[in-house]
Parts: sequence; structure tokens; C-alpha cells
Amino acid sequence: HVRPSDQLSSKDREYENTIRPQTIEDFAGQPSLIENLRIFIKAANLRGEALDHVLFHGPPGLGKTTLSRIVANELGTSIKETSGPVIEKPADLAGLLTSLEPRDVLFIDEIHRLSTVVEEYLYAAMEDFKIDIMIDSGPAARSIQLTINPFTLVGATTRSGLLTAPLLSRFGIKSRLEYYTADVLQRILLRAAGVLNVRITSDAAMEIARRSRGTPRIANGLLRRMRDFAQVLGNGVIDMAIVEHGLRALNVDESGLDDMDNKILLTLIDKFKGGPAGISNIATAVSEEAGTIEEVYEPFLIQEGYIIRTPRGREATEKAYKHLGRKKGGHSGT
Ligand code: ADP
Repeated sequence: HVRPSDQLSSKDREYENTIRPQTIEDFAGQPSLIENLRIFIKAANLRGEALDHVLFHGPPGLGKTTLSRIVANELGTSIKETSGPVIEKPADLAGLLTSLEPRDVLFIDEIHRLSTVVEEYLYAAMEDFKIDIMIDSGPAARSIQLTINPFTLVGATTRSGLLTAPLLSRFGIKSRLEYYTADVLQRILLRAAGVLNVRITSDAAMEIARRSRGTPRIANGLLRRMRDFAQVLGNGVIDMAIVEHGLRALNVDESGLDDMDNKILLTLIDKFKGGPAGISNIATAVSEEAGTIEEVYEPFLIQEGYIIRTPRGREATEKAYKHLGRKKGGHSGT
């Protein structure tokens, strides 16, 4: 299962890039992560060294790509971007690594999807800035060791649980991105609206923020649609009336939960009588991998108080019953 937001068209990407913050000042939220990152970058800059390798992990749409570009920006260097499944063999990686200037950033998105051979090839590059390359072929084939420029690997993943211990241990800086609060999302929306040159009232921005599942990508995506509603049905200003109409028309959940969230809650309540239910049983019932439920969906449901974790499994809370219009202990309320 892939969230709709994970399958971005080139037009979506273009939109995202337009409003993507370029500097650390424009990046909202994630205060402790930002505070640390500033120090590490400053220290690397003062010493003229490459920044330690960085791992950003957390659910999709929270700013991992954005931060990676900001890191390169703050280091005053360039960034080369690729992703785990795109690097098919060590030679592809060698090509990228040898093209890096000193202190450049190599960004590998979905780093949990690197093949084993490519991953192992990466170890020496990360550790000693050395790679082995094969020259010649047939009986004359031999490998020579090449020293590459010191660089910073920035890895991003939604599934840190899938990373191997040797890879994890090679990242000096590991940061988890958290869901955003509504007031930070409101700030992000107001800034994005400014960049897009569209007017939005602050209560309208708050309403979008509240219903964006703590995720800037979702908030920005809704902003784009609200701009359409405002332009066609109103006078171009995104106000409360436009947002109420627009979110209803798009079927956006009152609390910002998505289809999978609701499916998990429904399963827990209807199939498992509210729990406790084991994560693997829930996963089977909703046809999703247990690890994905644990790392991508569940954190938000727990944070917002729809689910609690007990030693015997997951339990639906009163809030979950209320959200779905069910009565605890009773039969389904539909
Ligand atoms: P990820 O790589 O984690 O999936 P992205 O970095 O691509 O997420 O962010 C998705 C969108 O959300 C981008 O358009 C980006 O501009 C916006 N965004 C993410 N985090 C922030 C933030 N902290 N402040 C402002 N905009 C953000």
C-alpha cells in the first residue's frame, strides 16, 4: 500500500519545489532537530570538514528531502540526489561518488531499499572515503582502490527498522522527524500562500492545518486545491467558507485521518472488539506489512490518542470509538 501522497506526479513535484523552504530559517518546526543540526553544520564549516553522515527517518511528507537540501545549502556545497531502488549496482554508486566535490552532499532517499551489494559497497566510501573499482575485463580484470572526496551521505527513510546495524552505525547523526502541531502547520501554510501569492485568512489556514494529519505535504496539497475553490467559487481569497466547502467536497476527514488510519481503527474495533490485538494480526486484517503499520501509520494514531500500546497489543481508545461513531462494548452504531 502506498499513500496517494507518495505517488507524486511531476507537476506535484514542481509545486512542492516552488514552496519548499531553502534555508534553515524558513524551515518550521522540529525544534530540537534543527537546533542540533545548526551546531553540527557550523562546527563542520568552522573546521572546513565534511559534515558527518546524516540519517533522517520518519513518516512521508515531514520534510526529509527539504532538510537534506537545506543541509547542502548551509554547508555551501552541492547536493546530488538519488534513491535506494535507483542504484542497481556498485558501478552506479561509484559513478555518483567519484563525481562529488569535497564536502558535497549525496542524498539517498528510501535508503532502506538499497540492495545488499550496493549497501556493502557504500561502507568503505562512508568510512574511509575509499572505493574499489574494477578495471579491464576477462582475465586481466582487477580492482584498484580509489580515494574519493570527503562527502556527507544524507539518507532518508520511512522504515528505519529495515536498516541493517552496520549501515546504521555509519551515520554519526540520526534524526527522527516528528508530526507537526496544527499551529506550526498553520505557519507553514501562511508562508506557502505568500510564496504562491494567494491570500488566505488565518482561521482558514488553521482549519486546513488541523485536518492535514500533522504533515506539511498534505497541508500544502490541500492549500493547492483550496486555491482552486477560492478562484472559481469565490473571489480568490481562501477563507473559512471556502475551506469548509472545499474540505467537504474533497471528503477530508474531520480529524485529518486518512483511509488507512480509519481502516486500522475500524478493524481494531469491529474485528478485535477494540483490542488488545497484536500488530501482526491487525496488519493481516488490513493487508499491510506490520513494519509499515508500526513506522508509518501507528505513530500518528498513538500521538493523537486513538490507539494505545499495551503489553498485550494495541487498544482502541474512547476517542477512536467516538471518531467512528461506535459505542464501546456495544454493537456497531451504524
Ligand atoms: P519527505 O522527504 O519527508 O517525504 P519533503 O521534504 O518532500 O518530505 O516535504 C514535503 C513538502 O512539505 C514539501 O513541499 C516541503 O516544502 C514541505 N515541508 C516539509 N517540511 C516543512 C517545514 N518544516 N516547513 C515548511 N515546509 C515544509
